Amino acid sequence: MAADEGATTLVTKDDSPKMSNEKKTKFDVVIIGAGPSGYTAGIYCSRAGYDTLILSGILPGGQLVNTTEVENYPGFENAIMGPDLMIDMRKQCQKMGTTIVDDEAVDVDFRRKPFKVLTATEEYEGRAVIIATGANPRKLGLEGEKTFAGKGVSYCATCDGPFFRNQELVVAGGGDSAIEEATFLTKFATKIHLVHRRSELRASKVMQERAFNNEKIKFHWDSAVIDIIGDQKMQRVVLKNLKTNEETTLDVGGLFVAIGHEPNTKLFKNQVELDDHGYIVLKNKTHTNIKGVFAAGDVHDRTYRQAVTAAGFGCMAAIDVDKYLTESVDKQE
Ligand code: NAP
Repeated sequence: MAADEGATTLVTKDDSPKMSNEKKTKFDVVIIGAGPSGYTAGIYCSRAGYDTLILSGILPGGQLVNTTEVENYPGFENAIMGPDLMIDMRKQCQKMGTTIVDDEAVDVDFRRKPFKVLTATEEYEGRAVIIATGANPRKLGLEGEKTFAGKGVSYCATCDGPFFRNQELVVAGGGDSAIEEATFLTKFATKIHLVHRRSELRASKVMQERAFNNEKIKFHWDSAVIDIIGDQKMQRVVLKNLKTNEETTLDVGGLFVAIGHEPNTKLFKNQVELDDHGYIVLKNKTHTNIKGVFAAGDVHDRTYRQAVTAAGFGCMAAIDVDKYLTESVDKQE
């Protein structure tokens, strides 16, 4: 299912049960982001009795809104569509009493308490904040990536690999992710074409050796994917050798783009400690360097990146928030 189809059925501002109270701006907990981590944090915070706001951004639901079937989220024997899973999480949050506002945070002030989170029109306050803004996979920038998203083009082998049994596939990239995804996909695919723009891999030596020893992986050096072709689903890709300009067409059932991720942390740059790649640095459990500001999900996790692990981190952050707020009251902070 395309992202837009899923998004049209999402619950909007108007049917949120809390939206009658438009002027409410002060909360115990403000959660920024509405993927699995944000929604799970919302469920736990509201259920623990905290007045909780989720600022969901313009398109709530995170990366799963761009996904079709999710087969690896526990509890769904027959899989669930990504957008449907996110709608259910959202409804569960609202049932627990979470206020959800479909607006985008454009600025934050974590220098004094209560913390401030600003949208273009409103200023929200929270005694604690959970950052759950996630990360986005880097794109190649091809038109076909949009056309065939969920129809052959994927950004997650763990999520989608099993849908591509007995097919030839392309993996784009040359880092650890690309090698890991290519190696994982050999469990299902008949052949993997690994397309990398340079003549050597960026991936660690041990990962490289594993890939070089895997006879199902064929390397296309100094090459880029320049086009994705298909009808209802993608059917082939066009590669260009960047040294010779020679073009080759490969008949493949899928393209896995594995050229890195970008955490959504621009907003926090000068206030929360980030690592060299822009991910939030956790100091202790889910605490950031600012006492009272927590992080959950892909915004700090560059290892697992699964819906279920993001949800787990959301739960952990909410439990840490509970402990922090309880101790703050005891200390009358
Ligand atoms: P990465 O290390 O940044 O590698 C990205 C790869 O994609 C590079 O080979 C890069 O090419 C290529 N690339 C970037 N933009 C491109 C574009 N527009 N078109 C074509 N190719 C493009 O990202 P990553 O592989 O996701 O890894 C991220 C971090 O996580 C790394 O520190 C990695 O070690 C770690 N990681 C570890 C493991 C593990 O240990 N099991 C698994 C996954 C990730 P160039 O090489 O030419 O720049």
